Amino acid sequence: MRALRSFTVQTHLPEELAPLRELAMNLRWSWDVRTRELFRSIDPRAWKASHSDPLAVLASVSPERLDELAADRSFMTFMGEVYDTLKRSTGRDRWFQQRGSSPLRNVAYFSAEFGIAAALPQYSGGLGVLAGDHLKASSGVGIPLTGVGLFYKEGYFRQSLNTEGWQQERYPMLDPHAMSLTLSTGADGQPVRIHLDLAGEPLVAQVWKAQVGRIELYMLDTDLEENSAEGRLVTDRLYGGGTEHRIRQEILLGVGGVRALEAVGIDIQVFHMNEGHAGFVGLERIRRFVTEHDMTLPEAVEAARSATIFTTHTPVPAGIDRFQKSLMVKYWSGWCAETGVPFEQLMALGAEPTGGDMFNMAMMGLRLAGMANGVSKLHGKVSQKMFNDLWPSVPWDEVPIGSVTNGVHGFTWVGSEMADLLSRNLIPSWPEADQKIWNKIQDVPDDELWRAREMARGRLVTYVRGKMAEQERARGRMDTEWTDRVLDPRALTIGFARRFATYKRADLLLSHPERLAALLSNPERPVQLVFAGKAHPADDQGKALIQRIISFAIDHNVRDRIAFMEDYDITVAAHMYQGADVWLNNPRRPMEACGTSGEKAALNGALNLSILDGWWDEWYDGKNGWAITSAEDELDLVRRDAMEAESLFNVLESQVVPLFYDRPRGMVPLGWTQRMKDSLDSLGPKVEAYRMVRDYTEQYYEPTARATDALSASGYRRARELAAWKTKVVGAWDQIKVVSVEGDLGTTTLRDERVVDATVAIDGLRPSDVIVQVLHGPVAQGDELVDPLVTDAEMVEARGDGTYLWRAKFSCNTAGRYGFTARVLPRHDDLLVPESLARITWA
Ligand SMILES: *Cc1c(COP(=O)(O)O)cnc(C)c1O
Repeated sequence: MRALRSFTVQTHLPEELAPLRELAMNLRWSWDVRTRELFRSIDPRAWKASHSDPLAVLASVSPERLDELAADRSFMTFMGEVYDTLKRSTGRDRWFQQRGSSPLRNVAYFSAEFGIAAALPQYSGGLGVLAGDHLKASSGVGIPLTGVGLFYKEGYFRQSLNTEGWQQERYPMLDPHAMSLTLSTGADGQPVRIHLDLAGEPLVAQVWKAQVGRIELYMLDTDLEENSAEGRLVTDRLYGGGTEHRIRQEILLGVGGVRALEAVGIDIQVFHMNEGHAGFVGLERIRRFVTEHDMTLPEAVEAARSATIFTTHTPVPAGIDRFQKSLMVKYWSGWCAETGVPFEQLMALGAEPTGGDMFNMAMMGLRLAGMANGVSKLHGKVSQKMFNDLWPSVPWDEVPIGSVTNGVHGFTWVGSEMADLLSRNLIPSWPEADQKIWNKIQDVPDDELWRAREMARGRLVTYVRGKMAEQERARGRMDTEWTDRVLDPRALTIGFARRFATYKRADLLLSHPERLAALLSNPERPVQLVFAGKAHPADDQGKALIQRIISFAIDHNVRDRIAFMEDYDITVAAHMYQGADVWLNNPRRPMEACGTSGEKAALNGALNLSILDGWWDEWYDGKNGWAITSAEDELDLVRRDAMEAESLFNVLESQVVPLFYDRPRGMVPLGWTQRMKDSLDSLGPKVEAYRMVRDYTEQYYEPTARATDALSASGYRRARELAAWKTKVVGAWDQIKVVSVEGDLGTTTLRDERVVDATVAIDGLRPSDVIVQVLHGPVAQGDELVDPLVTDAEMVEARGDGTYLWRAKFSCNTAGRYGFTARVLPRHDDLLVPESLARITWA
């Protein structure tokens, strides 16, 4: 029977042990080794059974054991030290405070998912884990940031495989009272209640707060008795249900999120939208500006934009949230009525430039953000091309989308063996190490590095065996003895874990079954594979991929060389990154926006063997791992996959396996350890999330903070002026004409100065409203300019007839045919990116 009502009984901790609750409630435990060790020591079996969850340990520990601990001097000393470190760590000045004054007061980071610990399963994969690492790293370097998300009662699905190897999904209910979460209260001390209107129905949400080091994360939850049955289900599952469910969740995240921050008393300066799911933040902010500050829609858009950053994560249009017009009518008519903004103008904010009447969340994100970025250099470029239509007159490589390459939170992901080695040989807080400090890895004795490698691999093998036995028992098989023989702690171990989406090609290795079987069953130089990953519940193709891997192991009699670990989550993932020798990634380039699992593996000393996509395209240097040749020019996918599989097997057979087993002097493979050093040395300072959040701060948060402070001063005076200026410029832009571009065309010598005069008609505008630029450089066939340089011209003469003369001077630094042209762009002090107005007139 089901209980009608339920409540939570908390363990009563003796007063001396009160710090334990505080330590368990700050998710800093998820990356702090000593805090974890403290909870493990309370009850090692409960720690293991709970998959490393301090609150579960506290909930299960007996009163007798608590008394025993309170009387245990060494435990009490250890607890005191760990507690002191927590207190000190949250107060100390970090990188952000140490660099002196900053225009940045605070950032709200909105994301549909956050992956912080396996014990708080509010993530599905890469996007969420990245968001979790963003919070942790912000805590580490002291950035004033607040996270905003949703609390899903059933989280994401849990995976198991049936006896046929077919994925089964489960959705166990979570109890927020039993997690490292507290209910947020308002100024009156009462739990805050967020109120929304969902297509005419009132919706109420409570707000859970998670403490992540020094960072707070607020999660909205509609599972309340005040709500209708449907209302309660808004936060049932992550990415469950159809598009209507999705729009309801996204309204709660965007609109509710802004209201939640207000209710807990945080006045936000900068808004960072992690992917389009959070895009409705912009509409809520616009509503405020219109109704509370009496702005027009264009003014409100400027005010909202100036404070907003949008990060896109998907290189494929199909990965973007889009809503049908009918859903927009249903859920946003109320907004239109309240603001007086006609529905068509609302739709225009999310319209796709190619036509149709879908509302596209990425398009809205880009239109309502003052700055936007992709998540690796390559992905930044792919995004510039993908969204070029939004800025039609702008050349694709000047589309205003930049990039910050994703990084990973080292303290969370690096295993104890490697973490010890790094803190001994670099600096204790090695995630802060710069390139010069990382160079010291080259001096670490090879056998020390190799020992850490062997221990981590051994730990993975033990973990896999335990997990396999558990999986077998769950399927009702009692004969689990064979799982003790799964994997060999000394064999070359390849890790492969990711979502089983088709483009990630988990089956590329299976495309040469005989070659793979030969690698796996080679008695002298054995290779073994550890797999993990979930397929989307609706994706039967993805599930079939998993099944093929399972059948391959059975059919080729290599069950002891291939392990598939069920229910890929943060704990499974960490064991794999820590224990693998080689991290394999073979997506179809450029479908992987960044990828982060390889970065986590690299910090653990694994070598990447990967298609040059995402982060690996940027940082592979020829000796820090291996590249699989991408045959993306081949349009026939079957042929392309075959060519890339060939490259993968060639590298494995002729380079990876021989290097691992090349052990001339005793036991240490010196070629391998050298490559590990080159990998750590070159990647260590780059893949760390501390670097990522520092980049966001300097390149995005601070410029945005400056812009929004300027535009919002004196009742948003400059936001209003900017909106008026844009209206004027856009209205007059069609009259802009480059009348002539003249310059000396005689042969010249290298480095000589050339002068180019451009006469431009700017009817209705002032010269200060525009920039005239001369583009010049070597020309190829058909006088096509190759990578032209851009020189801003100076206005030198008003001609009186509405035309003006601009002059640019430059020197020619390449010999051969040289050419030039000119163009006109809008210019305004508060227009951070001239291209963003998508008005460029070419000569
Ligand atoms: C890092 C991580 C991912 C993302 O890895 P990709 O390389 O982007 O596929 C997904 N799930 C978990 C649990 C992770 O830790």
